Amino acid sequence: MASIVITGSASGIGAATAAMLREAGHQVVGVDVAGAEVCVDLSSAAGRAAAIDGALTRCGGRIDALVLCAGLGATHAPEKIASVNYFGVSELLDGFKGALEAGTMKSVVVVASVAATHGEWEGSPLREAFLAGDEEKARALCAATGHAAAAYAASKHAVVCDVRRRAAAWGARGVRLNAVAPGAVETPLLQQSIADPVVGKATAAFIPPLGRRAEPAEIAQVIGFLLSDAASYVHGSLLVVDGGIDALARPCRF
Ligand code: NAD
Repeated sequence: MASIVITGSASGIGAATAAMLREAGHQVVGVDVAGAEVCVDLSSAAGRAAAIDGALTRCGGRIDALVLCAGLGATHAPEKIASVNYFGVSELLDGFKGALEAGTMKSVVVVASVAATHGEWEGSPLREAFLAGDEEKARALCAATGHAAAAYAASKHAVVCDVRRRAAAWGARGVRLNAVAPGAVETPLLQQSIADPVVGKATAAFIPPLGRRAEPAEIAQVIGFLLSDAASYVHGSLLVVDGGIDALARPCRF
């Protein structure tokens, strides 16, 4: 039985992943604002420190695998999206690194989004602020865009960069680190987007090339694969799990 920490475990993709891993016999320590083993708010540094402390205490200082799934969709304040979606991942990666090195599975999956692959980010001050760990500046720049969707895409792009730039150092310590990029998944987050007065109509109208949206369990299964020995040579990768959205949008860029 492995000890696996999952953020965003109370709903959607995180809840489906937690259920799947518990069914397989693992001990899951969920981290979420409510309805989890460790209840914290990842939008603040204090909440993130409490998440790390709480999960490490429950796991006895050794974590076998980690899934960072908690996130806010493009219906929230841009600066809060910046804090949860980027710093709620990056600071937890830092905080759990030692405990993962002591674990058995030594595998991490970060849930990004297909939105991470959209846009031009070369030389972007916003991306630089995220990657420099400057939360105040990243929040201010996200707020300045005035668009939650822009903050969402930037936060998800930066989080993939953060995963990939750790690949050398983490690989040397034997810990695999990958990201998944879902497209449209039937969860409360998607329902909030559909109900939103700005992005709702377009979100509701868009159907991925496979002809339907994903069920949370379909993303959970891919996360389970990446955590497992079946993916023992997959490291530093972004696995797009989007029913063909990315291929539709940019067939010759990959
Ligand atoms: P969801 O809303 O069902 O679940 C997200 C979970 O994150 C919730 O339980 C929520 O309480 C938690 N969370 C949010 N803010 C938090 C905070 N400040 N502190 C602690 N926990 C917090 O959404 P979901 O669709 O399952 O999303 C999971 C991940 O998948 C997110 O990172 C999201 O960006 C990503 N994603 C979702 C879709 C989709 O269409 N649903 C598409 C691409 C990516």
